[in-house]
Amino acid sequence: MAGRVGRKDLDTVLFGVPLLPTRTDAEPAMSDDTILLLCARCLKTLTPGAGNFFQIEIHAVADPTPPEITESPSLETIRQEIQAQLKHLEDLSPQEAMDQIQRRVTIHLCNLCFPDWIERPAGN
Ligand SMILES: [Zn+2]
Repeated sequence: MAGRVGRKDLDTVLFGVPLLPTRTDAEPAMSDDTILLLCARCLKTLTPGAGNFFQIEIHAVADPTPPEITESPSLETIRQEIQAQLKHLEDLSPQEAMDQIQRRVTIHLCNLCFPDWIERPAGN
């Protein structure tokens, strides 16, 4: 079962949609940071604390295996490779550069969608 998620965790939700307060009566209005959670597959509204969804945190990392080095490159070759990598990075924003090596994504799935997804997370 999904555990309770704190306010800070909810702020990172991929499918969270902020709700604007619409009440004008004396009752306390919802704060601006109230979030509507939706199932990433069927868009069903999810209720934090009701145990009706799973929070899924995906951490993807580019191939972490170090390259196989069969011979020692010259210092000049190493310097040229570093310069080439730096030149490549000049054209990228910091986020684009980070996205090339790792991504973290949080999604939520309702209790009906989760069992199918977890058995085949990469699809058919
Ligand atoms: Zn669903």
